[in-house]
Amino acid sequence: MSPAHRLAVAVDAPQHSAIGVPLTYASEHALAPGTLVQVPLGRRLVGGVVWDEPAADSAESLTEDRLRPVAGVVDGLPPLDAPWRALVAFCASYYQRGLGEVAMAALPPLLRQPDDTLVRRLQRWSLKGAGRVPAAGVADEPPPLNEEQRHALALIASASQGTTLLHGVTGSGKTEVYLRAVQQVIASGRQALVLVPEINLTPQLEGRFASRFGARAIASLHSGLTPVQRLQAWWQAQRGEVAIVLGTRLAVFTPLPRLGLIVVDEEHDPSFKQQDGARYSARDLAIWRGAQLQVPVVLGSATPSLESWQRAQQGRYRLASMRHRVGDAPMPQVRLIDMGRLPQRQGQPPVLAPVLLEALQANLVAGEQSLLLLNRRGYAPVLHCAACGWKSDCPHCSAWRVFHKVDRTLRCHHCGVADRVPRGCPDCGNLDLAPIGRGTEKLEEQLGELLPGARIARIDADTSRGQGVLVQQLAAVHAGEVDVLVGTQMVTKGHDFRNVTLVAAVNPDGALFTSDFRAPERLFAMLMQAAGRAGRAARPDAVGAPSRMWVQTWHPQHPLYAALVAHDFERFAATQLEERRVGGLPPFSHLALLRADAVEPEVAMAFLQDAQAAAAALPEAGPVTLYPVVPLPVQRVAGLERQQMLLESPSRAALQRLLTAWMPALHALRSHHRRLKRWAIDVDPLAV
Ligand code: ADP
Ligand code: ZN
Ligand code: ZN
Repeated sequence: MSPAHRLAVAVDAPQHSAIGVPLTYASEHALAPGTLVQVPLGRRLVGGVVWDEPAADSAESLTEDRLRPVAGVVDGLPPLDAPWRALVAFCASYYQRGLGEVAMAALPPLLRQPDDTLVRRLQRWSLKGAGRVPAAGVADEPPPLNEEQRHALALIASASQGTTLLHGVTGSGKTEVYLRAVQQVIASGRQALVLVPEINLTPQLEGRFASRFGARAIASLHSGLTPVQRLQAWWQAQRGEVAIVLGTRLAVFTPLPRLGLIVVDEEHDPSFKQQDGARYSARDLAIWRGAQLQVPVVLGSATPSLESWQRAQQGRYRLASMRHRVGDAPMPQVRLIDMGRLPQRQGQPPVLAPVLLEALQANLVAGEQSLLLLNRRGYAPVLHCAACGWKSDCPHCSAWRVFHKVDRTLRCHHCGVADRVPRGCPDCGNLDLAPIGRGTEKLEEQLGELLPGARIARIDADTSRGQGVLVQQLAAVHAGEVDVLVGTQMVTKGHDFRNVTLVAAVNPDGALFTSDFRAPERLFAMLMQAAGRAGRAARPDAVGAPSRMWVQTWHPQHPLYAALVAHDFERFAATQLEERRVGGLPPFSHLALLRADAVEPEVAMAFLQDAQAAAAALPEAGPVTLYPVVPLPVQRVAGLERQQMLLESPSRAALQRLLTAWMPALHALRSHHRRLKRWAIDVDPLAV
């Protein structure tokens, strides 16, 4: 008996297998596209999704009985719908990855290796959820919208599709606008997808949605969930049992049968871009998904990405501006402290300018909270031997190991290697090793000396490891158990610190002078966000002095800081866009990176040079500039040398055509460079 049906299956194969297209399998039963199956691949069984058409070319030479049969079908799961498949197909093609790889990565992990218990679980959930109507009961009483909010909401609601950029200063009530837009959509029986950069950092947003719509109306989707929780949230979403999906970038792939609105909060945030595997931008996929389904998309930010801002300027997005804080609360006063004019001791200025120290002391006396921002964790970025010049370098990376005093370790922030601090200099034995520079740990220690009696807390990636730790730490700040909070940019994202009246950036200049053309954009966003953390309470009784944002800088004349003082995002964006235009940089051009890693730098280099020659030989290379191979800013990480080659074109479509034509050559080249560890293409890279 020979199986009667030929099926195209997008199989879960890694990028390096070069299986980018669906493979053909045999099946006794016709299976609808979107059905989740297990199929043999080599000697393994892998997951796959039945795709739309049996591939015409891949199996033409195989007779029916040489086709391998499908090994299993996941029962109890309705086929993934056509819009979902279209989104996955677009993602795979645009970011130059395998179809099956993207399809499988877009599913909850438990569905990638399904077993019987899974199927039983799904069936149980089906019974429970059957006939359930999404709860959309309004719990808390929404405040009446102000004029700017009404206008923004009207603009969003006026169109049945297209993208609206909601540019609103911090505290202007953007979240309230999202809530209202979501409310309208779910009142008409449809679903809303709300994407946030990092859900662990935004429990407040989740709380606000839950208290407005009830926790049962919401499914959260992020990588902090257990596999079962994640599957359950996904399951409820794709069955239409929840009205709202709130999630991080991976949630962009959630199948939503009645999708009516997509919101991308803090749309400028780099964490919407996946940094490995298929390097997709969840924001850009959200816009594509909205266009495909003719569903409106809202991008919100106080500091939009220059890409989005430019499109709004060109009229490709509608622009809603909210220039005032709710209740006309004043914007924080920004003050620049010129570090060059401070009295120096032994050639060094003090850690904190005397005026800043006085302000911290005054805040302490007044019972108000302060936030100090230093974007470098650890105690000191490097440990140094003055006798022989030894520095705490990482044996595996071209980077220094950071001195962490709490546990007396030297830790590499790139590869993670950690050792105890040596008793003496490893090179000359000198016992007098000295830390150079300053991280959050040292700042915390110094504050303890400078502000005796103050309750000082620190929040960074070191202190917030472990489930729930960050939430507890933030709760302590909110409960007023902390006078001065020291943190990295982690604390600038999304938290309302109502009693913080002074925010100070201790040493933010670094980003002004890096080779990364996006560094100023990120710095500006970070400082605006940080300023926005303070004094957000829209209290009618908050008539006192406005909150303050102080910046210690050696470059007080820098235009970035001038725009910051004026809270003038538009001016900043205009000057940045002009620089980008002159430099032919995004959004005036489109970029892709080919990256290669190998133990020996020559191996990575040789692969990239061959790749470049292959690209140059293609007719599609005409409108694309191919730049020379260069090492990454941190060249060696975890023992691998990292090199890259940049491609640039004024036309996105032209760049795409070249990349697509180039891929087969790259896969073929791979076998001539056996010592290459890995290679990858990054389309629209954030760091170049
Ligand atoms: P954003 O997201 O723009 O930073 P939020 O939406 O968090 O601002 O709003 C800031 C504060 O103002 C929140 O406490 C919110 O509850 C409150 N708020 C928002 N809109 C209104 C309104 N129309 N009337 C009164 N309070 C509001
Ligand atoms: Zn030494
Ligand atoms: Zn390292």
